[in-house]
Amino acid sequence: MKATESGARNFQRAADILGLEPSIRQRLLTPYREVKVECPLLRDDGSVATFVGYRVQHDQSRGPMKGGIRFHPEADEDEVTALATAMTWKTAVAGLPYGGAKGGIAVDPATLSRSELERLSRVFVQRLHDVIGPNVDIPGPDMGTNATVMGWMADEYSKYHGWTPGVVTGKPLDLGGSEGRVAATGRGLVLGAECLFADEHRLISDFTYAIQGFGNVGIWAARLIHERGGRITAVSDVTGALRNPHGLDVTALIDHTRQNGSIQGFPDAEPFTGADLIAENVDVLIPAALGGVITRENAHRIRARYILEGANGPTDADADEVLAAQGIIVLPDIFANAGGVTVSYFEWVQNLQNYYWDETRVNEELKRTIQKAWRDLRATANELACDLRTAAYVLAVRRVWRATEQRGS
Ligand code: NAD
Repeated sequence: MKATESGARNFQRAADILGLEPSIRQRLLTPYREVKVECPLLRDDGSVATFVGYRVQHDQSRGPMKGGIRFHPEADEDEVTALATAMTWKTAVAGLPYGGAKGGIAVDPATLSRSELERLSRVFVQRLHDVIGPNVDIPGPDMGTNATVMGWMADEYSKYHGWTPGVVTGKPLDLGGSEGRVAATGRGLVLGAECLFADEHRLISDFTYAIQGFGNVGIWAARLIHERGGRITAVSDVTGALRNPHGLDVTALIDHTRQNGSIQGFPDAEPFTGADLIAENVDVLIPAALGGVITRENAHRIRARYILEGANGPTDADADEVLAAQGIIVLPDIFANAGGVTVSYFEWVQNLQNYYWDETRVNEELKRTIQKAWRDLRATANELACDLRTAAYVLAVRRVWRATEQRGS
């Protein structure tokens, strides 16, 4: 299923519940602006390679648009549009004063040298600087980009507009980044899970976990679950999967992954095929890698009771029906992984005020934001007697529509 189709189905279900007219639905779904740019890159060997970059700005009714930039060979218009739209709903669910956007370049960053990566990051900003800005559209990191890339992007934008750290988030601390940003998505996921489990009088430590993807989100989720006494029995990354039914040594696995670039070769664990991770015999499954990994075809293999969506769009809309029939509770991505954009918002606030918070304050504000979002989400689900994804979309679409209406046309 195409990413935009899956997102649109979730939107339409919410719009049906809210009784929105077709013209309103069209207005809310149509992106505000879509930009497609040529990104020529001077390679280290003197040749020139040309890549295609995208920025989709979906909605700005509730504030400046916000969303990451992805460097990935499969980045395309459909994926970027779906992710931009999801950002609109995510910032609304989290109660942040933002709209949604997303960008990407169809490139495998692993094939670039560090200086090539820097030149490509700068070229992208040269093409986009007129349509982004701290009051317009604020990019951040996503798959294949990181704090270093964000630092280059802030520097390149500032060549045109003067020093403007608030134009991107996820920057290095020395360039106006925020304490706590690196861990924020994993931390938000775990805080959200604590809210969900608390409603059932359960704790993180009551369950076993399998995590798909061992990058930023997967590693931080693993570390914080482990600290709270949860047992992680399986993980996977692009190279394959590992299991240890007694619980993986998470600290050692993180060290191994940092040293070797992947989980491959980690001792005290049994390797198995990555595609089988979703079928592990665990209580909680955490997809924290790519979108579209849980489909109508494979959803019946899932044995977990809960799915915490660390990744963006990991579950196809038609897989949700299969999961619901199996009684699986899904903590939807637009709530579950909103910790990253929440601390990005804190970073932007600090940049605009030139006043910087310590990590304790960041983590406390994050907890408060996630808990408030959870209360709103739970109340909506109770009011409508529906699943959490439907409730999250209703909450978000209602907020975005109200803002659109109040701004007038
Ligand atoms: P990352 O690049 O740091 O890590 C991605 C991980 O996924 C790596 O371990 C990689 O090996 C693994 N992976 C790739 N293909 C895989 C496959 N086929 N099977 C299993 N593992 C595979 O990326 P990240 O920042 O951790 O982002 C992961 C997901 O979370 C993405 O969907 C991203 O959009 C979403 N997300 C990230 C943030 C953030 O702040 N980083 C915020 C919200 C959502």
